[in-house]
Amino acid sequence: MNETITQELEQIRRFSRKALTADEVYLFTLTLCDNEIDRDFERFTDEALQQLAPLFEGKTGIFDHDPASKNQSARIFRTWVETDPEKKTSLGTPYVALRARAYMIRTEENKSLIDEIEGGIKKEVSIGCSMKSVRCSVCGSDRRTAGCMHRPGEVYDGKLCHDVLSDAADAYEWSFVAVPAQRAAGVTKSFKKEAVPTGSIIHLIKSADSDLHLSNQQVQALQTKLAALEDAAEDGKAYRAQLLGDIEKYVQLALPQVKGALFAKGCGTMSVAQLKTMRDQLKAQTAAVLPPVVQLRGHNEKSTTDNTPFCI
Ligand SMILES: [Zn+2]
Repeated sequence: MNETITQELEQIRRFSRKALTADEVYLFTLTLCDNEIDRDFERFTDEALQQLAPLFEGKTGIFDHDPASKNQSARIFRTWVETDPEKKTSLGTPYVALRARAYMIRTEENKSLIDEIEGGIKKEVSIGCSMKSVRCSVCGSDRRTAGCMHRPGEVYDGKLCHDVLSDAADAYEWSFVAVPAQRAAGVTKSFKKEAVPTGSIIHLIKSADSDLHLSNQQVQALQTKLAALEDAAEDGKAYRAQLLGDIEKYVQLALPQVKGALFAKGCGTMSVAQLKTMRDQLKAQTAAVLPPVVQLRGHNEKSTTDNTPFCI
């Protein structure tokens, strides 16, 4: 057993219930993500990769490419950020990747899976993380709250527009999937859904005079908002109908010479606020012409009727 294996087994000891021997574990290296613009037109900043590194330590990954190896898991026990000075990103900056060492317990079931990894079959890593900041690479506007006219994947002034991911909040899980060799390997990300304020998006839509790009999150937030507005509109309709019904009733009581239904119909184009004012005025008028029917009369009050014996 060489020194490196001993050190790694010690690192694994932080996450495993019992001490594992070199024969019991299979160790491998993987790239979790990097600072290149990926196929979703998203890019992690170098700082974000540094922030994600400690967050992924101890996180479990699943191999989901083969039903036979379902639920086989591996765990990351060490992460580091690696800069390749020879390799440049499409933006011309040094290529930086978040790399990880992971272990899995050797079992009969995962033998073929380990052979596959050993055989260097191309793998795609899918990671789940939460980023506090997602900004447009062209203008820097916040994709979640503000949005802008720039569409990721389009070129503006010779530069590919993409979303810049920074300020890592948390890392959740990762999975390892075998992909056909001809397909470009890449990182797919899933972001934790966070509440998106819709006010600024609506303002953006109102002021837009050209194509507008909205993220999935913004579209979902707008759909939720729209559903709530539809509910509110139904409530509003019901309240309007109730106000018109009240107006009709009070007109009949206060102004018997006027046809209530006709009067209410005439109020059809009024705003809710105007209807409410009209209803309140008619209600007051009704109270004036028809004093409340008092059933109780005080004993000191002079009776105007001759049914005194029935007064209580
Ligand atoms: Zn922009």
